[in-house]
Amino acid sequence: MTSAPNPPLPTPARLDRRSATTLGVALLLLVALTLWRLPSDAAATVHDFVGMTMGTSFSVRIDGDLTAAGRETVRDVIQSRLDRVEELMSTYDSASELSRFNRHDTTDPFAASGALLDVLAMAREVSERSDGAFDVTVAALVDAWGFGPGGRPERAPDQTLIDELGARVGYERIVLDHDAGTVSKTIPEAVVDLSAIAKGYGVDRVASDLEELGLTSFLVEVGGELKAAGAKRDGTPWRVGVEGPDVAARAVYATLDLVDQAIATSGDYRSFYDEEGARYAHIIDPRSGRPIRYAGASVSVVHRDCAMADGWATALSVLGPEDGYDLALREGIAALFVMQSPDGFHSRATPAFLERVDTYTEVVTR
Ligand code: AMP
Ligand code: MG
Repeated sequence: MTSAPNPPLPTPARLDRRSATTLGVALLLLVALTLWRLPSDAAATVHDFVGMTMGTSFSVRIDGDLTAAGRETVRDVIQSRLDRVEELMSTYDSASELSRFNRHDTTDPFAASGALLDVLAMAREVSERSDGAFDVTVAALVDAWGFGPGGRPERAPDQTLIDELGARVGYERIVLDHDAGTVSKTIPEAVVDLSAIAKGYGVDRVASDLEELGLTSFLVEVGGELKAAGAKRDGTPWRVGVEGPDVAARAVYATLDLVDQAIATSGDYRSFYDEEGARYAHIIDPRSGRPIRYAGASVSVVHRDCAMADGWATALSVLGPEDGYDLALREGIAALFVMQSPDGFHSRATPAFLERVDTYTEVVTR
């Protein structure tokens, strides 16, 4: 986001600790991932809001006329919605609803908020359609590999531990009852991590809150996951940048124009650590119980719902540019895979991706 002011310094109390062990610095992403083009005379009607949530930064840009009081209302609505999503879904907050559910070590039903049930239902859909590549019950493995609230482990888990924790994994272990407003586990040890979908969900909820306030033209971004509501008021689409999967330089790989669409990006380059010659990426392949192999790849998914874009981007990262591409093709998912190789970046987009974005332009190939 080249033209917005820098976000304020994060409040330590609300930051999680994962940044200490990973290179996934969302603040940098904020700068590199979104490229928001403004007409030069629009400054007076464009309003930016930035802050911290879910261990990362958020930014909102509204193209509209707001009074000072209107700005305050918008600021409060955004922050309280994101605080609420965090209170419900963070695994870094031991008091969150999700953390309470994770400690609920029985198969008895757990009374859950509508929001938690909704996110779990969307997660379930992505799990089913990706044949379990996306699976929020990888939580214990995420922790064991050092990408959870506990931070980096002394050493990588051995096969015995992987097998033991892997036995708890399986999206069908979480059973939703929408009528009763409950969620249950089929085994008491099952635990859930919503980090792969909650940011996108937060974006969707903020966007619908802003729509309820009568706003029709805005961008909402949380940790790089983004939704464009409407077009800009001059009728042109919102232009956003997709970052190349380069750990050294956070360069914009391509730009694309969005109207009423969300985009989310996942990749092995975003958050990982190196240990004894191996590189551990923060995305776990539920089939092996191990992090995906680092290959310098990213997947961006465009979808109407940012939560679904977020979930699918993670699912397709697990599967990688070949199997993931084939699945995206079969499922009609709008996906762009960007791969890094010694001679530069190259990419592959599904037909649905090219249909959903207005203009797609590759900016750099190296
Ligand atoms: P994202 O950055 O949206 O791709 O989400 C990555 C985060 O989701 C990781 O840091 C984990 O907390 C969690 N996660 C890792 N692997 C999976 C998976 N296979 N399915 C669902 N969530 C995962
Ligand atoms: Mg995701």
